[in-house]
Amino acid sequence: AAKDGGRGRYHFYAPDLHSDAEERRQLEEELRDAVANGGLELYYQPVVQTATERITGFEALLRWHHPEQGFISPAKFIPIAEDTGLIATIGEWALRTACQDLAKWPTNVRVAVNVSPLQFANPSLPSIVTSALAHAQVDPQRLELEITESVFLNDDSDTEAMFRALKSVGVRLALDDFGTGYSSLGYLKKAPFDKIKIDQSFVRGATQPGSRNGAIIGSIVSLAEALGMETTAEGVETLDELDLIRVLGCSHVQGYIYERPLSAEAAASRLTSGLIAVAQGPRSARASR
Ligand code: C2E
Ligand code: MG
Ligand code: MG
Ligand code: MG
Repeated sequence: AAKDGGRGRYHFYAPDLHSDAEERRQLEEELRDAVANGGLELYYQPVVQTATERITGFEALLRWHHPEQGFISPAKFIPIAEDTGLIATIGEWALRTACQDLAKWPTNVRVAVNVSPLQFANPSLPSIVTSALAHAQVDPQRLELEITESVFLNDDSDTEAMFRALKSVGVRLALDDFGTGYSSLGYLKKAPFDKIKIDQSFVRGATQPGSRNGAIIGSIVSLAEALGMETTAEGVETLDELDLIRVLGCSHVQGYIYERPLSAEAAASRLTSGLIAVAQGPRSARASR
């Protein structure tokens, strides 16, 4: 599907009759409808352990199949969901659905769920998470919550209390998109992260001559290791990027080089076929290189 099934398909409207504000209001309404009528779906992208090339888990990623516009990217509708408060309902649905899917998978597999800063600011988040886990009967250690640096912009004591509460629920915590925001080493001191996810903007271009990205990734990995945290390199697309990420010592990799986000069914079948489909991925590509 197109990366952004939006604007481009409005060609049958006179552009001046269809303002951005109107488009947005209509999308809002349609999103509300999608939430109420099962129009959202979770896809799962494999997270691969670098050393073994085994799938250790999946990141759950929202998908919205719009009746007319086709696929709409979460990058476009999550902000709308946040502005309208719909994120609370969507976020809870995502947690419950991910836990239910996780319950069907082998116990050595984890799932990571993205948590918006607005969900993180909701004092009932720990009980929502507890309830999703209990309902699906999965071990809290199998659930990882991905949180971005922006949560640190809110009140310090509330933020720290939320981290403690989530840790006592027993879930794992990952710092998402590391390096893109107001990255402060203080965050790593304050919050009990199990993993740092290195943003794909560092991976992109890292293999170009003269790029500083590799040095930055290497330093993040050293820091994470010293703190006892894992690292996932996000958005690895090419063999050269994968080789570099290996050399730099990232413990995990996520990216199109292995697999795009998959439906829950396709994700499950990737697991039963044993290891990741490296035969179709890096190795065969390497052989034909
Ligand atoms: P994210 O959490 O950083 O997720 C990683 C994004 O990178 C995903 O985009 C994924 O499809 C994409 N990606 C993975 N590998 C590659 C690659 O090799 N190349 C490229 N170009 N991209 C790759 P996606 O699915 O469009 O999601 C975008 C963002 O939307 C996510 O970024 C996350 O911030 C947000 N999002 C998605 N699902 C949820 C959700 O359930 N809740 C919340 N609050 N946010 C979500
Ligand atoms: Mg994420
Ligand atoms: Mg990310
Ligand atoms: Mg992101």
